Amino acid sequence: MVQHMNKLTVIKPQWLLTVNEQFDLLTDSALIIENDRIKAIIAVAELSNHPGLEQAETVTLDNHILMPGLINTHTHAAMSLLRGIADDLPLMDWLNNHIWPSESKWVNRQFIEDGVRLTVAEMIRGGTTCFNDMYFFPDVMAKTCQQMGIRATAGLIVLDFPTVWAQSADEYLSKAMAVIDEVREYPLISTALAPHAPYTVSDKPLEQIAMYSSELDIPVHMHIHETQFEIDEAVKNTGKRPLERLDQLNLLNPSLMAVHMTSLNAMEMERLEETGVNIVHCPESNLKLASGFCPVDQLQKLNINVSLGTDGAASNNDLDMFGEMRTAALLSKGISGDASSCNVMQSIRMATINGAKALGLSEQIGSLEVGKKADMIAVDFSQLNTQPVYDPVSQLVYAANSLQVSQSWINGVQKLKDYQLTDIDAVEIITVAQQWQQKIQN
Ligand SMILES: [Zn+2]
Repeated sequence: MVQHMNKLTVIKPQWLLTVNEQFDLLTDSALIIENDRIKAIIAVAELSNHPGLEQAETVTLDNHILMPGLINTHTHAAMSLLRGIADDLPLMDWLNNHIWPSESKWVNRQFIEDGVRLTVAEMIRGGTTCFNDMYFFPDVMAKTCQQMGIRATAGLIVLDFPTVWAQSADEYLSKAMAVIDEVREYPLISTALAPHAPYTVSDKPLEQIAMYSSELDIPVHMHIHETQFEIDEAVKNTGKRPLERLDQLNLLNPSLMAVHMTSLNAMEMERLEETGVNIVHCPESNLKLASGFCPVDQLQKLNINVSLGTDGAASNNDLDMFGEMRTAALLSKGISGDASSCNVMQSIRMATINGAKALGLSEQIGSLEVGKKADMIAVDFSQLNTQPVYDPVSQLVYAANSLQVSQSWINGVQKLKDYQLTDIDAVEIITVAQQWQQKIQN
């Protein structure tokens, strides 16, 4: 029998931010990766006593902080191919007159594969190691992510109306079940049911989604209360605010990832706390579309789990989680009038462990702890804009940018090494994106 050698990597960063329960920031510590998992976190001085490290690869990272990979909990990955196609417009004008017509003309399996490839490359380059998507052809998205080596949750989109992916709510649901079966064999991929929004999915499919979510124990990922207009229209048409309707359909529970959540009233926030709903905050998309404000400060005071998402690159227009963290922190202070709101620790949790909790993956990822999957990044503070370093955690939120991510590991595999993607051809991906632009523009 062939003895299978375990692959060991020892990382020695200047600082090691665990994002564990105590938010421990370690120095003079080393992290050992064995295959896909974190095997140990020990003092550098103890390394010589640790058996079996003779063959290990050692990565010494002076002036770097090692931290959990960032988790982007709301994206439409393939929409990167529509980045910058229509800007400076309100949500419904942007959707009805620009995005939906472009999608119905151009979206097909190849569009998804090429768009997802662009997104995944941008994300890994910028420190994201896991994302939660919602779009057409989730089967293509899942396969592309597994092949490229990024962790992802494929959102199984459901709508009432026909698109290139399905013709009716029933067909969306039956395709969702088929994709769940298909991606079971992909170790990096999980799934979520993704009804698009309260105004695009009617009661019957929503009831079925609530039932499937509880039977299969998978999350539900949905845009909710994106704008005041959405709420006003719902009240006009149904007599109920969207969140009240979803409550009656048994969707408010810890499996729900409610994206955007602007214009919440006090009663709704209380109900979200009671039911354990996860909120996905997309500050830059909300600002750019002038959608409204998610009351992050109040939600955090109620101990509601809030994570961060960029939304698609057509409404952000980048997939930079460092930018998103900083915008979330600044926006929360501005809205609440309290400079202590959304502090650096809360901002980093929103971009890491809180996302893992929302996805039901917090046993696996979201913090650097022994036994968890080795999903982590190193950020280089040796540059002008991040010197001197009084507080490395503050530096991450308020001074660093995503181009300072120099190393990234996903599932124990090094995906970014000394600023270079290890096994993804960025030049080829950019060429393909430019070919799509030429087609779409003409
Ligand atoms: Zn969205």
